Amino acid sequence: MSKPKRKRKNRQPEDWGVDEVPRLPKTKPLQLRYYGDPVLRKRAEPVQVITDAEHTLAEEMLITLYATHGIGLAATQVGVLKRFLIVDIDPEDADYQPIMLFNPEILSVEGESIAEEGCLSIPDLHADVKRPEKIVVKAMNLDSQEIKIEADGLLSRVLQHEIDHLNGTLFIDRISGLKRQLLRDELEKIQQADRPL
Ligand code: ZN
Repeated sequence: MSKPKRKRKNRQPEDWGVDEVPRLPKTKPLQLRYYGDPVLRKRAEPVQVITDAEHTLAEEMLITLYATHGIGLAATQVGVLKRFLIVDIDPEDADYQPIMLFNPEILSVEGESIAEEGCLSIPDLHADVKRPEKIVVKAMNLDSQEIKIEADGLLSRVLQHEIDHLNGTLFIDRISGLKRQLLRDELEKIQQADRPL
């Protein structure tokens, strides 16, 4: 998920270089997949065993997340159909550790909230989305341990947005028909935009 527009800090994209992540100096950002790419509509497969390949994917996705100023990224968005997502809702705080989850599963939901969302795969488009306010998620971490996360607010929203990606669902699928029709032209432009590979 991209940062909600209204909360975006006044920081220029060129300020946020990959060089600022010294822990991962040799890793390059992955190519993002954009709206219109059929991979975004596919269901990702569960990860049975975490190997070096998964650790590498985690590093590459982190670099990609920071390089693109996002706060959440699903493996599907870099063309990898594994049930894996990463979230860092405060990338500018070095003490806030990113959350990396394999096979995330929502166990329970509570309440309701409406807030603005954007998506790294659908650039420059933002819309209000209604979702449950609180969730409990079960998942496996990079150490192959089963963990449970209780989340509300922005963390809950980003987790739900990224879990949707693993099922081939985009946030625009969750907005009302009328609003979606209004966004149709913008979506078409995004789909037809030329982007360097
Ligand atoms: Zn997204």
